[in-house]
Amino acid sequence: DVSLEVSGLAYAYPDGTQALFGVDAVIGKGERVALLGPNGAGKTTFVLHLNGILHGGAGTVRVGGLPVDPRDKKALKEIRRRVGLVFQDPDDQLFMPTVREDVAFGPANLGVRGAELERRVAAALERVGMAHVADRAPQHLSFGQRRRVAVATVLAMEPEILVLDEPSSNLDPASRRELAEILLSLDVTVLMVTHDLPYAAQLCPRALILSGGVIAADGPTLGLLADE
Ligand code: ADP
Ligand code: ADP
Repeated sequence: DVSLEVSGLAYAYPDGTQALFGVDAVIGKGERVALLGPNGAGKTTFVLHLNGILHGGAGTVRVGGLPVDPRDKKALKEIRRRVGLVFQDPDDQLFMPTVREDVAFGPANLGVRGAELERRVAAALERVGMAHVADRAPQHLSFGQRRRVAVATVLAMEPEILVLDEPSSNLDPASRRELAEILLSLDVTVLMVTHDLPYAAQLCPRALILSGGVIAADGPTLGLLADE
C-alpha cells in the first residue's frame, strides 16, 4: 500500500524562482522517511504541495491514491484530512483556550461529533502522553509539551501521512527523547523535514535528500549519512 506518490513534480514561484525540477518519490504505508537537504533545496516547497497549499506547476501528487487537485474542492478537503502537517512552531497550531479544544478543532471541523469526537481527542492525547493536561491552556505548557499537543491536533484527524517540519528543534534532551518515543510508537506514515541528522537516523529507516530542487539521493538513512 502506498501513502504518498509524487511524480514529476516541478514548481516555479510567481517571481520565476524555480524551486522543484521534477521530483519523484513513493512512500509506502507505515514508512518513516526523513526529508533532508540544505536551505533552499525545496523541502518547504515540496511539503506545501502535499496538501495543495502550493499548486499550478507540473506533475502529480497522490495521497492514499487520491490525486491532489486544487480545483476539486471536495477532494481537497479529504486531502487536507489525509495530510497532517505539524508546523515547526507549535504556537502556529494552538489557538484555543484549552488543549482539549485545540485537539477537537480539526475533527469537529470535519463534522465529527459526540462520543466519536471525545474518543478521537482522548486517543490523540493519550498517544502523545498529554491526557493529563487536557483542560489546561496551551500557552501554560512547556515548549516540548506544546509540540506534543500540536502532534495530537493532527493525529486526531486520523491522517494517512504525518508530515513534521523540524520536530526536534528547540527541544531539550528529555523532550527530544519523549517525542522520539512517541513518533516511533505511531503506526502512521511519517515524513519528517529535518537538519537534525542523529534524529533522522534514529527515527527514519529511509531518507530522501533534496538538493537544488531534485532528489539527489533516496535510500537507507544510515547509508546516506555515511556517504555524506
Ligand atoms: P527549503 O525548505 O529546502 O529551505 P524552500 O522550498 O523554502 O527550500 O525554497 C526553495 C527555493 O525556492 C529557494 O530558492 C527559495 O529561495 C525559493 N522560494 C521559497 N519560497 C519562495 C517564494 N515565496 N517566492 C519565491 N521564491 C521562493
Ligand atoms: P525553511 O528552510 O525553514 O523552510 P526558508 O528560509 O526556506 O525556511 O523559508 C522561510 C519562508 O520564506 C518561507 O515561507 C518561504 O516560502 C519564504 N521564502 C524563502 N525564499 C524566498 C524568496 N526567495 N522569496 C520569497 N520568499 C521566500
